[in-house]
Amino acid sequence: MSAECIFCKIINKELDADIVYEDDQVVAFKDINPAAPVHILIVPRKHIPTLLDLEKEDAELMGRLHLVANEIARAFKLDKKGYRLVINTGPDAGQIVFHLHLHLLGGRPLLQTIAKGRGV
Ligand code: 5GP
Ligand code: ZN
Repeated sequence: MSAECIFCKIINKELDADIVYEDDQVVAFKDINPAAPVHILIVPRKHIPTLLDLEKEDAELMGRLHLVANEIARAFKLDKKGYRLVINTGPDAGQIVFHLHLHLLGGRPLLQTIAKGRGV
């Protein structure tokens, strides 16, 4: 937990968010500024600032984030047409929230530029 982190505050229910999934290790909520009809952020409860801060002990957690992505994709009926996961890492990738998160994007055909245009 990091006192100044918005995502830690969402996880701890100090800040409102439209939470679509939670378990003992993972929370997922709708992005406040969606870039696609479905735009969900999948975050570990553990405060890990970026992918570069990942440790060996986090390997299983990263797998769980991906399994949750599939579960959410099915719940939002994205499993036929597919979806995209994005992890922005550091300033050149446009990362603005320094609590590791997967962007799950879907619900329309995603052009290649989505990975560049809006930082997602
Ligand atoms: P990043 O560029 O760090 O990968 O993406 C951070 C994402 O978090 C952005 O898409 C942004 O719209 C979203 N975001 C920032 N603040 C909040 C917030 O307070 N609530 C929610 N639900 N999303 C947020
Ligand atoms: Zn955090």
